[in-house]
Amino acid sequence: MADDCIFCAIAAGDLPAEIVAEDEHTISFMDINPWTRGHALVIPRRHSRNLYEVDEQDLGHTSAAAKRLAMQMRDRLGCDGVNVLNACEQAAWQTVWHFHLHVIPRYDGDPLGLPTRPEPAERETLTTVAEKLRG
Ligand code: AMP
Ligand code: ZN
Repeated sequence: MADDCIFCAIAAGDLPAEIVAEDEHTISFMDINPWTRGHALVIPRRHSRNLYEVDEQDLGHTSAAAKRLAMQMRDRLGCDGVNVLNACEQAAWQTVWHFHLHVIPRYDGDPLGLPTRPEPAERETLTTVAEKLRG
């Protein structure tokens, strides 16, 4: 448990949360600022800062819990789709420094949209970046 981490406090039961599922490794609870009806977060109980640092086992447990939650959103909330999102570091919108997955139910015609529209890349650009990634 990390000091001053609100999600560790939720995991410890020291901060109230609307918990919807939990198991030995993870807890899922409602996001207090939901992007859509039913937006929830899944966290590993064990603290890590973000995707760069999360233990691979915890990542696996958290992903599996996110899938179970997505199925419940489909079956119990009647959503039409689900986005699973992770923000890693400030540049990618991270604001809470305990690894978490957003599980966001989507409804046909809901107002959520991408802030920019992706454009097709030049083949040469894709090749150059792929070479860098392959190392
Ligand atoms: P991120 O920007 O990816 O780090 O997401 C952090 C999320 O945590 C935001 O969507 C917040 O609305 C949510 N959040 C912050 N504090 C709480 C809390 N006490 N209980 C539930 N959700 C929270
Ligand atoms: Zn924490």
